[in-house]
Amino acid sequence: MKEYLNYIEGKWVPAKSGKTLESRNPANGALIGVVPDSGTEDVNDAVDAAARAFEKWRKFSAPKRAEIIVRAVEILRARKQLLGEMLTREMGKVIQEARGDVQEAIDMGMYMAGEGRRLNGLLVPSELPNKWGMAVRDPLGVVGIITPWNFPIAVPSWKIFPALVCGNTLVWKPAEDTPVMAVEFVKILEEAGVPPGVINLVTGYGEPAGAALVDHPQVRLISFTGSTETGRLIAMKCAQNLKRVSLEMGGKNAIIVLDDADVDLAIEGILWSAFGTSGQRCTACSRVIAHQAIKKELLDKLAARASKLRLGDGLLPTTDVGPVINQEAVEKIDAYTQIARKEGAAVIVGGARAMDGALAQGFFYAPTIFDNVVPTMRVAQEEIFGPSLSVIRADSQEQAIAINNQTNYGLSTSIYTTNVNRAFEAMRDITTGLLYVNAGTIGSEVQLPFGGTRGTGNGHREGGGPVVLETFTEWKTIYVDYSGRLQRAQIDTDELSSRIVR
Ligand code: ADP
Repeated sequence: MKEYLNYIEGKWVPAKSGKTLESRNPANGALIGVVPDSGTEDVNDAVDAAARAFEKWRKFSAPKRAEIIVRAVEILRARKQLLGEMLTREMGKVIQEARGDVQEAIDMGMYMAGEGRRLNGLLVPSELPNKWGMAVRDPLGVVGIITPWNFPIAVPSWKIFPALVCGNTLVWKPAEDTPVMAVEFVKILEEAGVPPGVINLVTGYGEPAGAALVDHPQVRLISFTGSTETGRLIAMKCAQNLKRVSLEMGGKNAIIVLDDADVDLAIEGILWSAFGTSGQRCTACSRVIAHQAIKKELLDKLAARASKLRLGDGLLPTTDVGPVINQEAVEKIDAYTQIARKEGAAVIVGGARAMDGALAQGFFYAPTIFDNVVPTMRVAQEEIFGPSLSVIRADSQEQAIAINNQTNYGLSTSIYTTNVNRAFEAMRDITTGLLYVNAGTIGSEVQLPFGGTRGTGNGHREGGGPVVLETFTEWKTIYVDYSGRLQRAQIDTDELSSRIVR
């Protein structure tokens, strides 16, 4: 059995308590390894180490910090296949998607390494002569990173690379379901030359390890991706300590298919978005809002395709849909199938745990489609985080958009139409963080912001684009007066400028 350790101040160490937790393959229950089940003491050690490393790291120039990221990218690229296989074993997603998870970290690393030679501030004219006004980005200090299991490499890379290039040191608490991938990622950062204490890894459960990180007074930012319930709790704790918090949470993402859409194209987007990663993406499509004129055609074709999807171990080339993450997930997904039935929806595909042959050893749930769903039903409002799709009818574009906008989430929406005017109206009227026209709800790229409106987040954006720097830096505004005399802003301005004109 393989035993993995925490990484604190450049050393691999067990939890102080000696306790461990197991990581298992969701496709067959095989033990992957054990990792520290860390507590408050371990988190405190990690934060102390990060605080000690900060002074040196912030003075290490940003281009030099970026060079370390470039080296990490090179290692990730060289190990992409191997990491992909490990990721499929620990998390379950099919191998192409697991390689994509690693690729996203490579992309993010390249993008952020470029920031090392950019990290723009502001340089603007002063209202007074012989005075210079500018604003620069300062690192925050020690940042806490808490990540989910559904993207074990990509999501951490959205946080770790910008945090490092901006000059922060960090403590990372990865999800308890995918800790081994976190160890592998940190090993790569160590090999790439991240100095001791700059990145620290503490594995364990949300309580106590994650909570200890959130509560620690020296942690200046919590960057969190996970469920809305946990995010809300973290935000409340951070508010008490005036700690910055960046939240990326749930979704109830919809694909709208209008009557002029290319229905076959829409079906490809729906299958990929609803059942890829077994529906366990925050951007997964869990609602189809279909115009009544094409709904029957769409649903018939969609049901035929969905019922043919092959479940299995994500490493097998014959597998379309892998397992869900654990027993709890199977139970939650199945509970929503029962809720759908009770609320009057029709289960037209799937609707049960898949137990045939080898599937019985893992956590598999059949791709599921609910028809006759109305927008107020729980299956149309609540995040299921599994391969369950609700189909809702709309009579017009306006109604479809209104249905889309009436949930507590606002992460990703897509619309299929061949009419450019309607596409632009939708771009104006849909309330969402990500909008796709004629593509599914998943597929964001690292050079643009990622995040959502309403209950999906708290206004921060991560995952890409220059805006991530806002999360990981603090503005410092600097005025330099080289006039050699007292110059008073707003007061001496008129007198001084008229003297210059004369
Ligand atoms: P999921 O339901 O997808 O597992 P969670 O929000 O429970 O989502 O988990 C996301 C991350 O948040 C995980 O790393 C988990 O350990 C962590 N976490 C869970 N509860 C807490 C908490 N009370 N404080 C801090 N982190 C937590």
